[in-house]
Amino acid sequence: MRLLIQDGTIVTFGSPCRVLEGQALLLEGDRIARIAPAAEIEGPFDRVLSARGKLVLPGLVNAHMHFYSTLVRGLGKAAPSANFQEILENLWWRLDRKLSLDDVEMSARVILVEAIRKGTTTLVDHHASPGAVRGSLGRIALAVKESGLRSCLCYEVSDRDGQAVTTEGLEENADFARSAAAARDPQLRALFGLHAAFTLSDETLDRASRMGGDLGVGFHVHVAEAAADVAANRSRFGLSPVARLAAHGLLGPGSIAAHAVHADAADAEILARSGAWVVHNPQSNLNNSVGIADVVGLVRRGIPVGLGTDAMTVAMLEELRVGLWAQHLRQDNPSCGFMELTGALVVRNPEIATGLWGFPIGTLQEGAAADVILVDYHAPTPLNDETVLGHLVFGISQAAVDTTICGGRILMEGKALTTGIDEAALAAESRRLAAALWERF
Ligand SMILES: [Zn+2]
Repeated sequence: MRLLIQDGTIVTFGSPCRVLEGQALLLEGDRIARIAPAAEIEGPFDRVLSARGKLVLPGLVNAHMHFYSTLVRGLGKAAPSANFQEILENLWWRLDRKLSLDDVEMSARVILVEAIRKGTTTLVDHHASPGAVRGSLGRIALAVKESGLRSCLCYEVSDRDGQAVTTEGLEENADFARSAAAARDPQLRALFGLHAAFTLSDETLDRASRMGGDLGVGFHVHVAEAAADVAANRSRFGLSPVARLAAHGLLGPGSIAAHAVHADAADAEILARSGAWVVHNPQSNLNNSVGIADVVGLVRRGIPVGLGTDAMTVAMLEELRVGLWAQHLRQDNPSCGFMELTGALVVRNPEIATGLWGFPIGTLQEGAAADVILVDYHAPTPLNDETVLGHLVFGISQAAVDTTICGGRILMEGKALTTGIDEAALAAESRRLAAALWERF
């Protein structure tokens, strides 16, 4: 398949994030083969897409996601919660225990269609369904395959449901990591998932560390999301969650530490030395009222900070905007954080995806994955290398995604899905499962 995209304005992402006018993009198979003036690219082509009046961007990356929370939308039965622990106990831990494998797969199928619509082509998921652990990642993988998008999966192991469920979670991670390594499917990758240090014993952390180490995969874990995580770890183990996870060998290159809202200076030092990615999730942190990570401070120490949504949305540019406003408030300074937050989405998230997949993802460059979106946008002010990040936050974020391509496959064109997914039928089936789930809640 040779697909030429011409007549558009290319925004490369990466560092530097460049604006290319008068250039076309040739996709060959699942990679970007060439970026050059259209006249210099020789045919024949299987398809030529005109991007006139549109920007050509790389598919966006969401570095921390929970597909399983999709069916909670509109559920009003949870008791009011005064803090993060109560939110977990009144909502998420009640809900995830009731999820069936069918619910798990449907949750992923529905939200992945939304991801196609928002131009998010790579999602790093963190899954929990303690009542249906075994086989859950395989069911999510089916949904990912159907969607045409890319996802890195893991099961978030926790001790909160007893020893047997802990063991199931460890084995689910290991089995999926083994099958992903054997298949080398460009749509799927694996990490070893852990919920958070405050729901995990030292013994479980050691088991996970050994298993993940033997498999050669990194870890994906919530870290210092709320003050309660820090307090619980300090009182029970005498260490901060960052220090404790690091002591068990769970923070290193290729691993994701989600949140780090309550990482202190000593924690930041450990994180900086570890090589792990920190993933910031500002909308979730605001919604749960847990605080906002000191992204400016973390980046200043050299920590690579990416951007996730923690399932609040799949719209990465919305998350970026909120992250920027929240950082202004966090630093009490309306002129800070711009490069740190835009860099999280434009530079770090592509680095995270590239690190997990083992080939370039998330930037428009020759040799990179053919993950491309077209966005309706007529720049009303000069658009160039110097201004593009401002356009991204204040203008492109408000524009509609028209076309989504992942791995060289067109998944949406002219705002219509092209993969045969019937959205109305999918939503009807999802409502049926959600109603039954809410009955059990
Ligand atoms: Zn999360």
